[in-house]
Amino acid sequence: MDNCIFCKIASGEIPAATLYEDDLFRVILDLGPASKGHALILPKNHYANLYEIPDEMVGKAMVLAKKMGTALKEALGCDGLNVVQNNGEAAGQTVFHFHMHLIPRYQDDQVGLSWTPGTLTDKMKAEVLEKVKKALG
Ligand code: AMP
Ligand code: ZN
Repeated sequence: MDNCIFCKIASGEIPAATLYEDDLFRVILDLGPASKGHALILPKNHYANLYEIPDEMVGKAMVLAKKMGTALKEALGCDGLNVVQNNGEAAGQTVFHFHMHLIPRYQDDQVGLSWTPGTLTDKMKAEVLEKVKKALG
């Protein structure tokens, strides 16, 4: 992808603060961190989102999230960690190259990743169960 900023960062064409690199992934510090240590896991190949990334790669990305999250906790002494992965503009995705956010959390920080719980009505439950099971085949 010629015009993809994360392709260029992942390949090393554009420099970034790299915490970790192997043949498949680069892990960098987010330039607009939600908290101290906010990191991004970038596959070196271009996949736009979760729907496109191959199973094998997404599995490896999650294993790397565990490794990096454990290192962030040990190094920074964070009290918690959010693993966030946005797909589509409606979900807040702004860079359309698959990535996982690792967001260290600190007691009483002001990072806003919460929502107001709704209600799972019988109607909603029936509709979603029926439609998703159908989609799964
Ligand atoms: P998302 O909203 O899930 O697409 O996340 C994109 C993230 O990439 C945001 O948290 C940005 O702060 C971050 N970001 C954008 N450009 C860069 C860059 N050049 N280097 C590091 N992080 C970046
Ligand atoms: Zn890309």
